[in-house]
Amino acid sequence: MEKLTHDVIVVGAGLAGLRAAVAAAEVSSKLDIAVLTKHHPLRSHSVCAQGGTAAVTNPKDSFDLHAFDTVKGADYLADQDVVEFFVKKAPSEIVLTEHWGCPWSRTPEGKIDQRAFGGHTFPRACFAADMTGFHEMHAIYGKAKSYSNIKFYDEWFATSLITDQGAVVGLTAIEMKTGILHAFQAKSIVMATGGHERIYEFTTFSHTTTGDGMAMAYRAGVPLEDMEFVQFHPTGLIPSGVLITEGARGEGGYLVNANGERFMKRYAAEKMELAPRDVVSRAEQTEILEGRGLQGPYGPYIALDLRHLGEEKINERLPLIRDVALKLGGVDPVKEVIPIRPAAHYSMGGIKANIRAETPVLGLYASGECSCLSLHGANRLGTNSTAECLVFGAVSGEEAAKHALAAGLRELSQEKLLAEEARVSAIAARNGDERISVLRDKMRRIMNEKVWIYRRGDQLEAGLKEIRDLKKKFVDISVEDKGKQFNTGLLNALQLDFMLELAEVTIVSALPRNESRGAHSRVDYPKRDDQNWLKHTLAYYTKDGPRLEYAPVTITKWPPMARTY
Ligand SMILES: Cc1cc2nc3c(=O)[nH]c(=O)nc-3n(C[C@H](O)[C@H](O)[C@H](O)COP(=O)(O)OP(=O)(O)OC[C@H]3O[C@@H](n4cnc5c(N)ncnc54)[C@H](O)[C@@H]3O)c2cc1C
Repeated sequence: MEKLTHDVIVVGAGLAGLRAAVAAAEVSSKLDIAVLTKHHPLRSHSVCAQGGTAAVTNPKDSFDLHAFDTVKGADYLADQDVVEFFVKKAPSEIVLTEHWGCPWSRTPEGKIDQRAFGGHTFPRACFAADMTGFHEMHAIYGKAKSYSNIKFYDEWFATSLITDQGAVVGLTAIEMKTGILHAFQAKSIVMATGGHERIYEFTTFSHTTTGDGMAMAYRAGVPLEDMEFVQFHPTGLIPSGVLITEGARGEGGYLVNANGERFMKRYAAEKMELAPRDVVSRAEQTEILEGRGLQGPYGPYIALDLRHLGEEKINERLPLIRDVALKLGGVDPVKEVIPIRPAAHYSMGGIKANIRAETPVLGLYASGECSCLSLHGANRLGTNSTAECLVFGAVSGEEAAKHALAAGLRELSQEKLLAEEARVSAIAARNGDERISVLRDKMRRIMNEKVWIYRRGDQLEAGLKEIRDLKKKFVDISVEDKGKQFNTGLLNALQLDFMLELAEVTIVSALPRNESRGAHSRVDYPKRDDQNWLKHTLAYYTKDGPRLEYAPVTITKWPPMARTY
């Protein structure tokens, strides 16, 4: 197998990966840094981020307020030392991206403008119209391209991490153009591979967010933390699931049921439409389950009403939303309501990492959505994710660079490389009766039906059994393309393999948590239970399925209280 060597490898070129690469390059111009991405960097899901990036920039706001909002939003499962560090670092990241060319929207006085967002008690979402991620990504990509010691590997698909005695020593990746599997040797590796929402049927996420990095780290022995906590966003456009930003409600949009009622007054009288996402999604789901949804060709839905905002404001602040509603929903929000329902939107769980983005494997770091530090606990507040990618992307890059300067290269075990080559070749050669797309659709339906907003023990059990049946069937798939170049059939198979692994981990983590906290809502255990469950779930890989352990939550200033909005 051909071997390539770098000091630092960043897997992923979304906001977290690009920010990590820039931070590593800033540590030393002598470091040889590689960024691997399975598609062009500017096709990473981060470009889809719409509503904004949270940071305290107004003197009337405060770090403690941002931290408390985050901790309360997290239903007290966030590690508070991580939260406190995060809120203090976020403002300087806004300034940096501004210097690198991000065109933040402005107040009439010329200051960076901020809008309201769910669960935040102060309008602290910096935004670039409703295309925040698009502009942030272009600014950081431009910056990353200016360093001669950052090499991009676009359209390289990482398949596994190689470890040796508790340290990461490299990885394997397929060059998609040739189909050849290569070995990469490195002193440090940063995982910044994004979320896994494509394990669900109705989701706001791109087709590429298949959780590869989480699954690779898990198989390499790193625990996945808090995987039962999946966020459902209240406003997925029907029928595609494409996101209608929470910024639409931040600008004053209403949620309305079939009776024309702003039903949020019965669920969160004070915050109304701007309660955190878990609260609003549950409210919508309840309205639908109790028969108060509007009826449409794709089933019951909720109406998002922006008409009272007026055409001028919609065009200025929410131009993408109008465009998306027109083209993908067939409605003009200036004149009509937008049909929406909750959609799988974010993974609070991920690769376990500490406040320095270090995983338990030496030399391996994680940041962005694939990681769990844990900043978001049981429920993330909107706009805290892009901010996290910037803050902890930088931390991961810096720490990885410092480690690489101090550490030496270690040999890649030939035996492990051959084993990975054999695994990938065996999947490529499969000629069974099962179709990849059919298994994938089944997995997504199971997750939608049995591991959705409201969960029940017996349904989770049934879902787990069905996912395990699909894992068995995976052995009988057929990869129809037997060619080498851009073999998307093989890549789809590898991604499905990763997703099935993560679907299993999600359910196994959810099953024993007999309480309702944040996005994990059990109808059979409707109360939060701090006595028994104020703890993080850690899922370790074994060949018989995940083994669970638990870890304490770090509390600094804010002991758990009742969570009302
Ligand atoms: C529609 C939408 C709107 C959103 N709006 C907001 C918002 O307004 N504010 C906010 O804070 N958050 C928002 N979010 C969430 C936020 O955008 C994401 O959580 C965040 O951008 C994830 O960034 P990331 O860098 O971790 O990963 P991503 O941007 O998903 O990038 C992942 C990278 O990993 C690479 N990769 C993955 N697997 C492999 C592999 N096997 N081999 C090689 N490379 C691989 C990909 O090529 C890609 O470059 C939104 C999300 C969506 C879907």
